[in-house]
Amino acid sequence: MSDRVENVTIVGGGTAGWLTAMIINTFINTFREGPAVKVTLIESPKIPTVGVGEATVAGMPSLMQQLGIDEAELFRRCNASFKVSVRFGDWAVDGRGKPFAFYHPFNFPGTVGGYNPAYHFNRFGPYGGDPSITDNMTANSALIHARKGPRALNGENYEKSIGYAYHLDAGLFGEFMRDVALSRGVQHIRDDVVEVFQDETGAVSGLQLEKGGRHPVEFVVDCTGFKSLIMKEVLKEPFISYGDYLLNDRAIPVQLPHRDPTKIEPCTRSTALGAGWVWRVPLYSRVGTGYVFSSAFRSDDEARDEFFRHLRAVGDLPTGAPDPDVKVIKMRIGRSQRFWVKNCVAIGLSNGFIEPLEATAIYSVEMAARWLVGHFPDKKGSPALANRYNGLMTSLYEEIRDFISTHYHTSNRPDPFWKAARYDCRLSESLQERLELWKARLPEITDTQDQKLFNFWNYLYVLHPKGFFKDRHFPLEGSIRHEHWQAFGRRLEERKAELLRTMPDHYQLLANIRGDEP
Ligand code: FAD
Repeated sequence: MSDRVENVTIVGGGTAGWLTAMIINTFINTFREGPAVKVTLIESPKIPTVGVGEATVAGMPSLMQQLGIDEAELFRRCNASFKVSVRFGDWAVDGRGKPFAFYHPFNFPGTVGGYNPAYHFNRFGPYGGDPSITDNMTANSALIHARKGPRALNGENYEKSIGYAYHLDAGLFGEFMRDVALSRGVQHIRDDVVEVFQDETGAVSGLQLEKGGRHPVEFVVDCTGFKSLIMKEVLKEPFISYGDYLLNDRAIPVQLPHRDPTKIEPCTRSTALGAGWVWRVPLYSRVGTGYVFSSAFRSDDEARDEFFRHLRAVGDLPTGAPDPDVKVIKMRIGRSQRFWVKNCVAIGLSNGFIEPLEATAIYSVEMAARWLVGHFPDKKGSPALANRYNGLMTSLYEEIRDFISTHYHTSNRPDPFWKAARYDCRLSESLQERLELWKARLPEITDTQDQKLFNFWNYLYVLHPKGFFKDRHFPLEGSIRHEHWQAFGRRLEERKAELLRTMPDHYQLLANIRGDEP
């Protein structure tokens, strides 16, 4: 008989709960005779999900493919669209004090003449027209400007011409994952957990359900959102705040109709305002947008007014249209000290949250669930599994925190919030060291080998446009050749021209994948 845990109870039916149920059930049970692990998900019929979280990162298509999800169905069920980049607008000002925009794309170039082409770009400048690093390294921004999709019409499942992620309707994505999970044998209980029982060791032994009586627990996953019902409230695991690294602690989300539904950008926009930034996620069916801000610099009312002024200025809210009804979400920024305590793992907002600037939370749920499968608990409760799991999750949180810090630390906007974010916020020692190093040489593959999500190119894409490397020259630049750079530029321009010629309009592609075309 296996000494592995055989029953997993998940509490919470948001994105974290259903994605975790799908990952455990699919990855452990699919190729066995009969389930090795019985997965039960308990979800409150009264407490709503957080209802946001609609942008993802580039690993999402692989996850969906591994979970056996048909991509066309995902697009239909979740009103999904493609995302090939994030456009950061007004995050910094140029030498004349004028705000500008830059892209953070999902694609990276290879080497040029054996060297990182960022060295060529730094020494020789742009090979052609557009002066941005992104346009000199990838085809992503060219596709976005032309509103093209990242794959061919009538393409195969998950086929792609360039890397992409999805924008997904958060509510519909949860429902879709729920329906697939139930069809694959996950048990579903719609009831409230009103009490948590612990045995003499402090481990969770059972859950009192409001209507359904006592539910026994062998291993439990706390996916109860910011409430963190088991990890925080019962197991009392300390919370490590990241408030001294990152200032934003509030968000005002709004859903709006498209101005012109045929002009869906294949990118997320992040536009800086006076005390934070606004996300704009264009789905097939509507636009999801919201202001992420710091309560130390704006009251809720001030933030709402500033946000609505912005929405009217960019045309997302027509002039004369009434202010939308909104609620303010309080964000608990930081993480649980440990993620796995006794026989409980917390996944999703229940284990912590870092503001959504790079749309990393669903990815963190994915990794938390994947690592749980990889370190699946045994009946003895071996500490080695939990210790390793806690180490992996801690480093993922720190990696994401440091990358988000980099955005703020290198912004030169003059507003009080932005100055505080740049000068008063803490930077981790490892980020300080890296930034110091990158004054002497460019970011290289070896600098980020231990990172799960953000590699040296991600750092280059964010640091370069802000002038971090301006007027700096590096010893390695003596070994690079101009003709290699020009040849690289010619090849990239050919590739862009080919993609622009062959890739379909983004909206048309979405309609085609969904089968909406007449
Ligand atoms: P929730 O959605 O809050 O779900 C909690 C669940 O627990 C609910 O089903 C509730 O009913 C249940 N529950 C609670 N108490 C009980 C109880 N006593 N008994 C039974 N059930 C209970 N992530 C991204 O990846 N990309 C983004 O672009 C992004 N943007 C975001 C923007 C904002 C402003 C915020 C706040 C978050 C964003 N996120 C984003 C994060 C993302 O929304 C979450 O990671 C994701 O939705 C998972 O939430 P959750 O399932 O942990 O919690």
